[in-house]
Amino acid sequence: MKRISTVSEMQEISINNKKSGKRIGFVPTMGFLHEGHLQLVRKAREHNDIVVLSIFVNPLQFGPNEDFEAYPRDIERDEMLAKEAGVDYLFYPSVEEMYKEKRTSVIQVVERSNVLCGVNRVGHFDGVATVVIKLFNIVLPDKAYFGMKDAQQVAVLEGVIEDYNIPVAIERVPTVREEDGLAKSSRNVYLTNEERAEAPVLYQALHLGKQLLLEGKTTNFVKNSIKEMIEKETTGHIEYIEVLTYPDLKSKSRNDKELIIALAVKFSKARLIDNIVFTF
Ligand code: AMP
Repeated sequence: MKRISTVSEMQEISINNKKSGKRIGFVPTMGFLHEGHLQLVRKAREHNDIVVLSIFVNPLQFGPNEDFEAYPRDIERDEMLAKEAGVDYLFYPSVEEMYKEKRTSVIQVVERSNVLCGVNRVGHFDGVATVVIKLFNIVLPDKAYFGMKDAQQVAVLEGVIEDYNIPVAIERVPTVREEDGLAKSSRNVYLTNEERAEAPVLYQALHLGKQLLLEGKTTNFVKNSIKEMIEKETTGHIEYIEVLTYPDLKSKSRNDKELIIALAVKFSKARLIDNIVFTF
């Protein structure tokens, strides 16, 4: 595995790989790798000749009061895990390498971004779209792998790819969970022991919601039931619970087929998100 820190070197390698007819699979991450990230790498390994993993904590997608500085980082460990998982190129640029001082244009996401995490994280998805478009132009992947843990991110990026006719196929990878159902996340390290013990309730509550919807209960009834369960069984503060269509992220109406139930819960230090997407 080769570690690369400049845009020009990464781009040159990708251009050469494509010239020799290689298929490039790409896994963008912010590092502090766990089983969820490695599952994306495995999928990329199965279906491509070359696997590129990027590690870049993107300042553009963090708000002023969010955890950009404190975001967990461990590049040495990540490098080992990436190598073991079969990554060919680890792209690890600095912030200065990715963002020059002056920009001529900005990307603004106008759909799928004003609900769920987009309500409190203003500008977050503009930052995500910007960095992913840049990374696609640097890595030139045929296929990019994203986790459904961040289902709104997948929905936004699928829209952006269509808007700009970007020739990259997105692969939606199901959420990897701990044995007790908690979605794996780099931010789980922020949980206290007590909060860690409560956190699986989020996934249980999502399942309850799905079951109630399939039984024909109203959206409001479902949201309230999830809320009651989380409030009763955890110390977390609910930021949102929503039932929407997927991937459009609109209010549910009668004939919708794909639905998402998504939630965000804030614990003392960790803000956890989770969701389930299913056919109604
Ligand atoms: P992050 O490093 O948190 O930006 O995540 C990088 C990629 O890994 C994103 O596509 C995430 O959706 C994905 N990912 C993170 N956690 C999980 C998980 N538990 N299961 C599947 N994919 C995940």
